[in-house]
Amino acid sequence: MTDPLLIPCPHCNGLNRIPATRLGDQPKCGRCKASVLSRTPFELKQADYASQIKGDLPLLIDVWADWCGPCKSFAPIFEQAAQQLAGRCRLAKLDSEANPHLAGQLGIRSIPSLILFKNGREIARQSGAFPLQQLLEWLRSAGV
Ligand code: ZN
Repeated sequence: MTDPLLIPCPHCNGLNRIPATRLGDQPKCGRCKASVLSRTPFELKQADYASQIKGDLPLLIDVWADWCGPCKSFAPIFEQAAQQLAGRCRLAKLDSEANPHLAGQLGIRSIPSLILFKNGREIARQSGAFPLQQLLEWLRSAGV
């Protein structure tokens, strides 16, 4: 028996304990009953940030803006990554226009920017869009 993983719910920020063996079974949140793990990126907001960076599964944040062309072309790649990484990494999108304070707090200088968190700490960061294979390799080298 391994210890359960602590995973925040993307809908209500409730912290769930989920056995590693159940990660593929579409676990439901103990508080709001929504799916804790999704195969699509969820939207991260300022108010959720502190809760969402916690937990034992890494969280990859894509910082983007509506006016940014490269961000838009990167969006489908990020969605494919969410499919491939389901159960291993959580993926979230941060709209830097709608959350300027958080973008400033994260020290975002250019977009798209990718920031990887684990257990509340930033463990890796990259600027610019890149192909899916390169994205997955970068995450692998960061331990995802
Ligand atoms: Zn919930």
